Amino acid sequence: MNIIEKQSGAAFKIQKGQRLKVVDPKGEQVSDMVLFNAKDKREKISSGKTLDFEENILITKGDFLWSNRSNKMMEILEDTNGRNDFLLAPCSPETFKIMYGNNDYHPSCFENLYTNLKKFDIEPDDIPTAFNIFMNVQFQPDGKLSVDPPLSKAGDYVIFKAQMDLVVGLTACSAEDSNGGSFKPIHYEILE
Ligand SMILES: [Zn+2]
Repeated sequence: MNIIEKQSGAAFKIQKGQRLKVVDPKGEQVSDMVLFNAKDKREKISSGKTLDFEENILITKGDFLWSNRSNKMMEILEDTNGRNDFLLAPCSPETFKIMYGNNDYHPSCFENLYTNLKKFDIEPDDIPTAFNIFMNVQFQPDGKLSVDPPLSKAGDYVIFKAQMDLVVGLTACSAEDSNGGSFKPIHYEILE
């Protein structure tokens, strides 16, 4: 089991057919995940394509994560919590400035994604909307959104099966409001 310490991230490769298990070890902790085709980084995970093809804004067990080229990148095999978000972009320095008036340095998923993905020649402008595992975004009939504390309990996990060779970026999210006000680690494991 690999550990992503609180407010940090990781990037790694996984091969077609391998499975990725992402665990919330303490509960109420979001993990942002981005995917790139390992053979051509211009192909990457797409929120728009996924919500379109799955005909749902709540993506969970049985669904696929699709690319900007309309190819399947991951299948969700297990999801013990069942609530994830695919609407909101990774938290960034600007998130904390614009939404919370924080002009000081603040760790963010965006920074943790691009710094870890640099070794795969992926740049900040390449980072797409992430699949936000365990993130609890609620929406009203009028479209109003709210970011609520995750519903995940200690030990909840999601298992993904790679549909192509992938570069994966993964974080333990750094935004107070997304994580019930405290920051915890994320665990992950690559299974054959
Ligand atoms: Zn975040």
